[in-house]
Amino acid sequence: MILQTDATLLKAMADAAEAAFPAECCGLIIGRGKGQLVRVTRLVPATNLLAETGDRFELDPAVRLKVERDLRETGTKDRIIGHYHSHTDGTADPSATDRAMAFEPDLAWIIVGVVDGQAVQTLAHRLDEKHGNFRPVQIRTPKPIVKNSACAEPSLSA
Ligand SMILES: [Zn+2]
Repeated sequence: MILQTDATLLKAMADAAEAAFPAECCGLIIGRGKGQLVRVTRLVPATNLLAETGDRFELDPAVRLKVERDLRETGTKDRIIGHYHSHTDGTADPSATDRAMAFEPDLAWIIVGVVDGQAVQTLAHRLDEKHGNFRPVQIRTPKPIVKNSACAEPSLSA
């Protein structure tokens, strides 16, 4: 799996992680695409039912049920492709708790590492069911189409 996502959506996850600090944030990732390349289309922030623990998360299942129902009813090609949460110790790798809680190999996990309220890194992972651990998932951010004059190629005639 390769995740393609706009920089604005990555920033939205980082912002949510910083806003939730010192608790963990969490939410669902909606996207579409078949095969290897999956495009993130939007995020749905969810309540972290374990927010008061500080270093755990449990995504409110009611949010997931509602999103699944909404997607089904609108007949869109979008689906839940994964979820995101934050770590308050700065790591963006799955914790021992994450490994213990993971059971859906189809879902991408995006983790935002936060240190002192600042998002420092964002990594994506997916459960390798066969080996019972996580494997890295590449995040691709398409380059903006808008031309920026500050990035203009230097003139050859100079
Ligand atoms: Zn975690």
